[in-house]
Amino acid sequence: MNYELFMGEALAEAQLALDQGKAPIGAVAVVNDAMVARAHDKVHESNDPTAHAVIVALREAARKLGRNRLADATIFVTREPCPMCVGALLACDVEALVFAVSNQVDGAAGGVLQLAQDGRLNRKLKVVSGIRCEEAEELFAEAGPVERLRLAERLKAAAS
Ligand SMILES: [Zn+2]
Repeated sequence: MNYELFMGEALAEAQLALDQGKAPIGAVAVVNDAMVARAHDKVHESNDPTAHAVIVALREAARKLGRNRLADATIFVTREPCPMCVGALLACDVEALVFAVSNQVDGAAGGVLQLAQDGRLNRKLKVVSGIRCEEAEELFAEAGPVERLRLAERLKAAAS
């Protein structure tokens, strides 16, 4: 499988998110070398705290394929996912997770926790990291000011 190619799709989705003032996290689901879903987070517009990019991509892939187990799927995402997202990947038996940059805040595939390959769980996820990470890091560097601006807006809204 061409990791660089599909990570390119995740990066394009991350750029879309960034253009909307969101964190540049894009996720892509691939089955049989074909992209079946591409998403960024929808937490704010849908008031859904669980609508992270990985979850949205999994939902779309499952809906398109008409099944709830995705054992033949590989998920590409620009940043190492959180515990909820890794939990969801394990729950639908995804074959592999490929990410660009590691996540030292709440990463659950080695950054902070290692949920993806914990022998105490009955499932394991293959993990590949560092694919096109310089490009993803550039997007996150660009997002720094955007995220600070959003925080300032939220504080202002809360104060008024
Ligand atoms: Zn998540």
